[in-house]
Amino acid sequence: MVRIVFNITRKPFYTHMKSTIYLDNAATTPLLPEVSAAMRPFLEQHFGNPSSIYSLGRTTKMHIEQARESISKELNCKRGEIIFTSSGTESINKVLFAAILDLNCKRIITSAIEHHATLHTIEHLQKTLGIEVQYVNLQTDGTIDENHLADLLKSSSLKTIVSLLHANNEIGTLTNMSNVSALCQTHKALLHMDTVQSIAHYKIDLTACPIDFLSCSGHKFHGPKGIGFVYVNGKNKISPLLLGGGQERNMRAGTENVAGIIGLEKAFLLAYQHLDENKAHIFKLKTYLHEQIQNRFSKTILFGNQNLNESLYTVLNIGFLKNPQTEMLPLSLDIEGICISSGSACSSGSENQSHVIAALKKYQDYQPIRFSFSILNTLAEIDQTIAVLDKLLN
Ligand code: PLP
Repeated sequence: MVRIVFNITRKPFYTHMKSTIYLDNAATTPLLPEVSAAMRPFLEQHFGNPSSIYSLGRTTKMHIEQARESISKELNCKRGEIIFTSSGTESINKVLFAAILDLNCKRIITSAIEHHATLHTIEHLQKTLGIEVQYVNLQTDGTIDENHLADLLKSSSLKTIVSLLHANNEIGTLTNMSNVSALCQTHKALLHMDTVQSIAHYKIDLTACPIDFLSCSGHKFHGPKGIGFVYVNGKNKISPLLLGGGQERNMRAGTENVAGIIGLEKAFLLAYQHLDENKAHIFKLKTYLHEQIQNRFSKTILFGNQNLNESLYTVLNIGFLKNPQTEMLPLSLDIEGICISSGSACSSGSENQSHVIAALKKYQDYQPIRFSFSILNTLAEIDQTIAVLDKLLN
């Protein structure tokens, strides 16, 4: 088992002998030391239940409200529009159930390459409640066809919610949030953006770019696991998905994950404070790895947008023409201590063939390898990764 410990300069080091290179930051990211330091008092001294009336409880409640305030300021929305949840998955479920059960939507427009949290929830709503579901066409690079989205919106008077990824977790394609927002406004459709992979990596201004719902998960930007939030535009009055106590202004029952909320806030604020420098560093790693792979391995393709500048800067998904060696790559890289992803992780711990790559149709002959980066990765790690790829494939 690999145990990651951080030294004061934020560089991860590993307590076992073999060095590990972690290039699977779209799956999850390690906690920053500043984040665990911020959380610690809320795991130890400040343990009061935020619903308790005495000061131990009032203190934790106050810190939760401060976290809500600083997150809402960053997103340029109202404090009461941020509801803490347990994950991106819960946020997405909450939005989709509320759109149907509370806001009377009868139709959902989505895409075939959404995260399973969206696709499986929609399939359930379709099966159990007979909701109409339409899938927007994709361009060859996986970006959505905005003209087709406009046509779909025009084609029916049923109350509709559009639910789309801002950044695709497997191939890094980005949806133009302002264009989609404008289309939804024109056609009076609700809009949910799954920003799990992009929030804290891009500026999002919810006043300048009005959307109805947005989902976030703390562990994708060096915050803790088991905490997320959903933004619910104040004009949408929705009911809780989880019933019980009156936490989160009656919008999400259950005693709050106080340390998680504080950790999410810290990671969120750190990310926005260093956004430009983080982006420059990570983008350099991505372009360097891409360039090196292109120079060395001819039978490869780049999944997603062909202009690296126009896709999620944390994700590089390369297709290696399938042969016995490349099909073994995920396993061989693991043996060499390099963590990457080749599909979407499923609950059994194995990886399924990616529904995203399958939806792109043309590329079935290529073995996808998703490299995803964070501020903790270094150029030296990329050089080591290239050397290992050379050893395995050339
Ligand atoms: N949406 C996207 C785009 C994701 O990448 C993920 C997680 O990988 C989720 C939703 C689900 O988030 P969580 O792991 O917090 O449930």
